[in-house]
Parts: sequence; C-alpha cells; structure tokens
Amino acid sequence: MITWIGIDDTDTYDKGCTTYVMYNMLKEFLKTRGEWRIINYPRLIRLNPNVPFKTRGNAAVSVGLNIDDPREALELAEWAVDAFSHKVGKTSPGIVVSTSNNEHWIYWKALTDVIPLNTAIRWMNKLGVIYKGGRGVIGALASVMADLNLDSTLELLAYSELTPKPSIPINLIKKLNDSTSPLTFENMDDEYVLIQPHGNDPVVFGIRGDSPHHIIHFASMLMSEIDVEPRWLIYLTNQATGHHVSSIVNKPYTIGYVEGSVNDVKLVEGGNIEVNVNSTPVFSYRHYGFKSIDKATYLIAYGGFKPGINNLDLYMEGGFALIIKGTVKNPKCPRCGSGLESTGRVGLLKCPKCGLITGLPKLMNYASEFLLEEPRGSEVRHLHKPIVRVGLEGLVKAFNRPSLWII
Ligand code: ATP
Repeated sequence: MITWIGIDDTDTYDKGCTTYVMYNMLKEFLKTRGEWRIINYPRLIRLNPNVPFKTRGNAAVSVGLNIDDPREALELAEWAVDAFSHKVGKTSPGIVVSTSNNEHWIYWKALTDVIPLNTAIRWMNKLGVIYKGGRGVIGALASVMADLNLDSTLELLAYSELTPKPSIPINLIKKLNDSTSPLTFENMDDEYVLIQPHGNDPVVFGIRGDSPHHIIHFASMLMSEIDVEPRWLIYLTNQATGHHVSSIVNKPYTIGYVEGSVNDVKLVEGGNIEVNVNSTPVFSYRHYGFKSIDKATYLIAYGGFKPGINNLDLYMEGGFALIIKGTVKNPKCPRCGSGLESTGRVGLLKCPKCGLITGLPKLMNYASEFLLEEPRGSEVRHLHKPIVRVGLEGLVKAFNRPSLWII
C-alpha cells in the first residue's frame, strides 16, 4: 500500500531546512528497506509565496512509501522531525500521513490562497488523513496533494553541516552551466552564483533542471572539487513551473493581476517605482531589475497583492510593458510640394501655397515596443517560470529515476 508522508515548518529563519528532515528520513528508511519502496522522487513543493508567516521560500516536502501500516510512516516522520528540526520562535512543525494523494484542489488552493488551520483540519478529518503537530500540517497536506501531472522540475540538493559552507570555484559553475543549460537552469545570473544559499542551513548547493542526468553530471563535477562528504537527494518539484499564477484570486496575500493604461509613474523611496494602472498602485522594486516599467504606456503585471492605503497594492513579480509612441503629421501637397494645413473640417486639408483642398489621410507614425519584464536571476522566486523552460513542460517524465538520485 502506498502511504504519503508530508512534512512542513521545521526550520527557523537562520537554521535548518525541511528538505534535510526528508533527506535523513529517507536515509533511515533505506537502512532497512529497499529503494523500490520509495515512489519516484520525494517532492519539494513551493506554496503561496505571499503567505505572511513563511520563513523563506514557503516549501513543504512529501514522499510516497510502499508500506503496509500508516502508523509506521507516522513514527518514521516523527523521528525525523524530532531529530532534525529547529523548533524555535514561530516554527510549528506538522506531519500528515495519507493513503491518497489526488485531492489536487487542496494543492491549488494552498498555492494561490491562504488556508486557515481549522479549515485544513476539517478537510483532513473528512478525508481520513492522519495529522500531527502545528501549523505545518497545512503545507504538509498541500505537498502530499501536489498536482505535478502536467509540469514539474527537479532539484538536487547537496548537504553538509560544515560551517562555513565550502566555496565552489565560479569558473567551474560557469562551465557546467554552459554545457548543461537549458536542461539545468538558474545556476548563474551574469557573475552572480545562484546555486549556493547563504544562510545557516545545511544546503551546500542546489542544481535545478529538467534532466536528472544533466543535474547529476553537474553535481558530481562540483563534488569532486569540494572537500565534503558527498550527500545529496533529488526532489521532484513545482519550482519554475509558474503554477502560482495559474489562478488569480485577487485577494490580499495572493497573486494578483493588473492590466491597463499607465496613468502615472512615480519614483518612490530607495529608487523603487510606483506605477498607477487603472487606479491600482503597482510597486516595482529597483533590485528586481524590471527594465522598461517606468516608460510603459500600458502595463500587464502580476505579483503579490498586499493591503494598501486605499485598496490592494500589487508588488510586481513579472509581466509585460507596452511602450507606444505615436506621431501624426500632415502630408505634403501632391501638386506643389509644400506642407498641407488643416481646414478646420475633419478629413480635409488645404495647401496654403496653391490652394488645393484634399482628403489625403494624415501620416501616422506608430512605434511600439512590447517588452517582457523578467526579474533578475538573483531575485527570481522559486515558482517563477524562466523563459528557458518554455517548451520543456513535462520533460521530466521522459527520464527514469537514475540510481544516483540519493547518496
Ligand atoms: P523554508 O523555505 O525554509 O522551508 P518556509 O518559507 O517554507 O521555510 P515554513 O517554515 O515552511 O516556511 O512556514 C510556512 C508555514 O505556512 C507552514 O506552517 C505552512 O503550513 C504554512 N502555509 C503554507 N502555505 C499556506 C497557505 N496557502 N495558507 C496557509 N498556511 C500556509
């Protein structure tokens, strides 16, 4: 029987990582059980990036195990959470155990909306899902119910508890990025390295991509250059799928969408920009690097909706800027070549020199630019779908799980 375990909210802002709890749990499981009992990859699921109480990237993990007794799954998860979580401050670990994982509506809701704890508990009681712990059960449940049928990506996370983190030669990252892109992505942004988190968590590096073979090649080359015991795990994820923008709820702390003519552009504190679109203030942070938003005459923007002074403010995450510059001129007189002038009557022009009255149309010069507003690599949110992934949707399913998915 397949039993699904979900875990969330096990870390503090500067310590730990829920994925490390999963890594250690699976290593423990594999000590006595065969690899075939682990269904596909464990899942690393990013949820609503706008929930106010997330620590960092609002991640929750889950895995399907082939075991006969769900109580065994609960015991295993409890052991891992006790041993590897950091229960300080607002951390509120939660574990769920479920024999079904196809209530996908829960995932879509958790991705695009805020779910009160008692609502999640009501759902779990109805569905016969076992749960234990605090607020983390919301994310844990959503991770179990994740819908990765149409699109998903992979991320290999390499772990070490060494501090400071071992440094990785940037030239090697560049070289591997060039040789594996686009089947790995978001490794670098110009000279800025994106694969190594800077916090106190146990992640040495993370390689994201659509092909497990390219990811493992990348990771094994890096491992051979740094002096840590090789330990890693590949996750199936909803990262870089854009799933969070698939449903627009237009409520506080959810993804919002605004489209319309730009009424006003203001420079605000710190060089950030406020653009007024159809009476909605759209804020674009300078460090996001949106290039054309201050010149936009028409804006299509999506991002996080937060309560503002009068209504909801949109904190832009991406979109399109349309820059329209139109000019209208009178043509020259076709008889004598001098400039035609208005007659005061619509559709008629006259020549001041030879007196010709003509219905010649005005000369329209219409220039427009349609520009994609993508955040800088260093500012990209986990769920944001990068351009390089367009056309690769569903590719992950083409590859079997390779033997080095966990070491
Ligand atoms: P990290 O990225 O380091 O794992 P985090 O940003 O994932 O940290 P958590 O510590 O997991 O932050 O805390 C997020 C909390 O928000 C969890 O308790 C989770 O259950 C809850 N949560 C996630 N999504 C929603 C949602 N849509 N509605 C309500 N609660 C949610």
